[in-house]
Amino acid sequence: MCFMARDMTGQFAPPRTILLVICVIIAAGSAAAVFGDVAVVDLLDDLEAELSWEPYRQIGSIHDSESRVTFAAGSDRAVVNHTQEKVIGSIYVKNGELMASERAEISIRAIFSAKTELISGPRISAIVLDPGHGGRDPGTNHSHVVEGKIYDLVEKQIVLQVSTILQGLLKRRFPGIDILMTRTDDRYLELEERVEIANSLELDDMEEAIIFVSVHANASLNPQSYGYEVWYLPPEYDRKDLVKAEGIEAVEIRGILNDMRDEEYTIESILLARSILDGMDGAVGDDSRNLGLKEESWFVVRNAKMPSVLVELGFVTNTEEAVRLSDPAYLRKLSIGLYNGVANFVDSFILKHGSIE
Ligand SMILES: [Zn+2]
Repeated sequence: MCFMARDMTGQFAPPRTILLVICVIIAAGSAAAVFGDVAVVDLLDDLEAELSWEPYRQIGSIHDSESRVTFAAGSDRAVVNHTQEKVIGSIYVKNGELMASERAEISIRAIFSAKTELISGPRISAIVLDPGHGGRDPGTNHSHVVEGKIYDLVEKQIVLQVSTILQGLLKRRFPGIDILMTRTDDRYLELEERVEIANSLELDDMEEAIIFVSVHANASLNPQSYGYEVWYLPPEYDRKDLVKAEGIEAVEIRGILNDMRDEEYTIESILLARSILDGMDGAVGDDSRNLGLKEESWFVVRNAKMPSVLVELGFVTNTEEAVRLSDPAYLRKLSIGLYNGVANFVDSFILKHGSIE
């Protein structure tokens, strides 16, 4: 349970303005090219691709039904197929015309010709599991007496057991991915420390991705409440500082890349949440109840600079659920559900984006 971790300030950024993408036709034939550079319009003809261009923000994309290169004029970085940030070479405006540097032309041709193959990267290089609470913070806890037997439920213990089983399953399935835990024993961690463990992971290159899964158990004043649910960050919440400052010259471009990254993490977080919920549904079946996907700006999901979700395994305040959550066999079922969900997400991420090493 995570009430303490909610964003109590209510300071949501205003909903991101939907980009008004204006397609412009740039007159061909006036390509007064710098040596080696080409007019983007000529490249479009060759690739049978289209251009969307937003003149006010100076961002655009070159796309067909399968590939997309989203760029900011003047930057040599671009986002490929919504997810991979790459240095592709500069696309810039000259005399009102959009031009691609020689390097950008080569990169874009390679991206559009590679569409039938798996594009290398990004790959998921780490999965961070975050068993909530620990040490002096027990999380939520509740006792029940059923037929003379006492059931003492402590959130920090339940979530550590499930996360530990989950870690083992994931390690076996994905030996090439680091499967990390924010804690492996009964210790206290600040919320900041949890996200810092994930955010400070060094990636070898820009094409590596990390996902973050926080695991909790729920409580309610209503003893009838039971079931599991998966939370993700509301899409209108704007995460900041997702893009490192180094190497990106203009603040404006950094802002655009940050927005793209935020959008990408939002999409991936929702996909991950859905995949985990489906996995749990499959493993738990009628034993408990699927309460669906929820949105909330929990501290850990809004501060993790990666796709991130928070899972609530069940309510310790419901007697039947408390009995289940005391049963190692049921905790294993929950772990397998989480595992199936995470594994399916990783598999589809690989299919979509490339391979893991
Ligand atoms: Zn909790």
